Amino acid sequence: MANRPEHKTASNNGVSATRVSNHSAPSNNTLTRSNDTRHHLYYGQDKISYEVIQKDKARKLRIKVYPDQRVVVSVPMQVTDEFIHQSVQKRVRWIWQHLQDFAKQKTDVLPKRYVSGEPQFYLGRRYVLKVIVDPEQAANVKLIRGKLTVTLTHSSNAADDTDGSDRATKVKSLLDSWYHTKAKTIFAERLAAVLPQANWLHSSPTFKILSMKKQWGSCSAQGNLVLNPHLVKAPKECIDYVILHELCHIKEHNHSERFWRLLSQVMPHWKAVKTELDSMAELYLNE
Ligand SMILES: [Zn+2]
Repeated sequence: MANRPEHKTASNNGVSATRVSNHSAPSNNTLTRSNDTRHHLYYGQDKISYEVIQKDKARKLRIKVYPDQRVVVSVPMQVTDEFIHQSVQKRVRWIWQHLQDFAKQKTDVLPKRYVSGEPQFYLGRRYVLKVIVDPEQAANVKLIRGKLTVTLTHSSNAADDTDGSDRATKVKSLLDSWYHTKAKTIFAERLAAVLPQANWLHSSPTFKILSMKKQWGSCSAQGNLVLNPHLVKAPKECIDYVILHELCHIKEHNHSERFWRLLSQVMPHWKAVKTELDSMAELYLNE
């Protein structure tokens, strides 16, 4: 999984541990197949529960700590519970520390003010917003050296805009259209890339971009897709997941057994990808 949002990775004896992001996120999704995938251990007095996901393609055990306090361990198919437990035990201090950090930061998801220094996401990477005023340039947005730079042509009159809301509105609208344009290109590219897997389709469906509060995508009865422009903030793999999910709906209209089986055929590790996307939803949709 390349292009993960801000993370810290520590590798140790074929074990990699990843802190997924530094903000809180919704926790209303299930990601494990059955209850027996839940495990726990202790760090001092603190009980730490973790979930285990078996992955066909995993070559090593990988630990992820999510902002909503979930600890997910993905493992290759053939490892024993004993090995998993020992590996998690080895990293228990690291896990505990990140759980502490996330708990502390939980109160820190603030509404965006569209000022320099705020985080902005694009294709799973975290960038810092930089707002500059340059009367010589046309208003624009550029991604340069780790910064998403928004140029305004003139500064708002401080007397009329004491709380900066005028300027924030301008910055937001420039960013919105930048993301919209990027989304159009990236989604077309990802749709073309995953389309061969959807061999039940005879032609490429069209898609429309529509900003939504609670959904990444949808699919009409005629088989046309609607995709949320905020999705372009997520890693490509997450974009692929959403597109494949909607393409599966063209064949299976509801979330039936058959639908999930079809999705698993085209993306066997979709649960892990969905978990990653869900964990970042609050940040990607924050505007
Ligand atoms: Zn669905």
